[in-house]
Amino acid sequence: MNNSTKNIFKSFKPGQDSYEIPSLMPARVVNKKTIGELKTELVEVPVPKIGHDEALVAVMSSGVNYNTIWTARGEPVNTFDFLKRLSFSSNSESTHNLDYHIPGSDASGFIVKLGSKDTKWKVGQEIVANCNWHRNDDVEVFNDSMISSEQKIWGYETNFGSLAAFCVVKIHQLMPKPKHLSWAESASYGLVLSTAYRMLLSDNGLRIRSGDNVLIWGGAGGLGLSAIQLCNIVGANPIPVVSDDEKGNFLLSNFMVDGFINRKKENLNFWEKGKHNPLAWKKLSMILKKQFKGHVDVVFEHPGRDTMAASIYILRKGGKVVTCAATSGYDISYDHRYLWMDSKSIIGCHFANPYESLKANSLVVEKKIRPFVSSVFEFKDADKALKKFEKNKGFGKVVINVLANSTEDKFSSLNCFGEMSG
Ligand code: NAP
Repeated sequence: MNNSTKNIFKSFKPGQDSYEIPSLMPARVVNKKTIGELKTELVEVPVPKIGHDEALVAVMSSGVNYNTIWTARGEPVNTFDFLKRLSFSSNSESTHNLDYHIPGSDASGFIVKLGSKDTKWKVGQEIVANCNWHRNDDVEVFNDSMISSEQKIWGYETNFGSLAAFCVVKIHQLMPKPKHLSWAESASYGLVLSTAYRMLLSDNGLRIRSGDNVLIWGGAGGLGLSAIQLCNIVGANPIPVVSDDEKGNFLLSNFMVDGFINRKKENLNFWEKGKHNPLAWKKLSMILKKQFKGHVDVVFEHPGRDTMAASIYILRKGGKVVTCAATSGYDISYDHRYLWMDSKSIIGCHFANPYESLKANSLVVEKKIRPFVSSVFEFKDADKALKKFEKNKGFGKVVINVLANSTEDKFSSLNCFGEMSG
């Protein structure tokens, strides 16, 4: 970045009526040539143009999600195939189909340009962005945009995500930034919380009720911490599963949980050498009866192949598994008898529509849900952040400060961890 560009970004602050937009911006990109490695390249790229239904946002912080790991690895789908497909249907002024991909599906920042004046949003306003990208001329979106054939995840299936000084979002992705949170905290929760909201509280997922026992895989991860807090809000009983006692004890001291299951300590290896291990399902069932004295009404699923058979087995009759992912593998099998004979069901869920995202965001704005940032990295250390996220195996969220200054942008008292690191 040359000095004049650097100075432009230093002077960028929210609350102005207009901004001088430079022609180039710094971005961390996944390159078509190097895709497959868990790394991004710091480059200067043209600031993208926006369409009539889009906004250009100055990115203060960018939250790390698993989908950036998938993007960098080029698995299970090559990100450049997404961008090519999008170029056939996009109505945007910007050309998404480039040799580089700017990933990032969570952002906090402020609006620097709007594609249309016909909107309630104003240039200079502080925002967070949800990652549901869709076209408003597709009538399905007025039912549930997640089932619109054009729906995409912004910053994963589209270009110009949050790992750059500016990102491009659809105007319907804009949501108010919680005033009490730092930029980093504000960029941390959107994707996972909205997903968990749809899974557990929306009619499009399943509506848990007060008193429901909800088994939550990866209880200290991004989705898991969201799910626990949503259970707490409606009076359901979260039963978190984690892989070490440190995570479990963190949950005991910060949330309303009656206990936790350490899957490693209990040797709960459900999937071994390419085969199911039904003894491990039974062991989990015994632990649940002994330690939590009740049946499991709902399983909050995302590990996929390793856990799905156990998730179905341990449910009470008529119980439901709600799933949004398959981190350990998507070629899933289970003993089908436990599903149909016991009238159980599996509900598939993917992110959230704008209304669900807004409802989830309101819970943070109203201080009913806390963010859960474990560490914040500088923009220059973005790759360290990705590696930490991957290795971390889900202990809160990892955030990258883009334009936000880490020494000024402190954690609020509401954050669970409060550690700034690099
Ligand atoms: P995360 O913060 O890394 O947490 C995931 C946790 O799941 C891990 O920390 C681990 O916890 C547990 N886990 C992982 N593999 C496991 C296995 N084989 N068996 C049992 N537990 C396992 O990740 P996240 O952000 O919550 O996301 C989790 C998955 O959901 C990712 O695949 C992500 O891409 C996906 N996702 C999908 C959507 C959607 O809209 N469809 C939205 C958000 C996330 P312990 O080691 O402590 O048990």
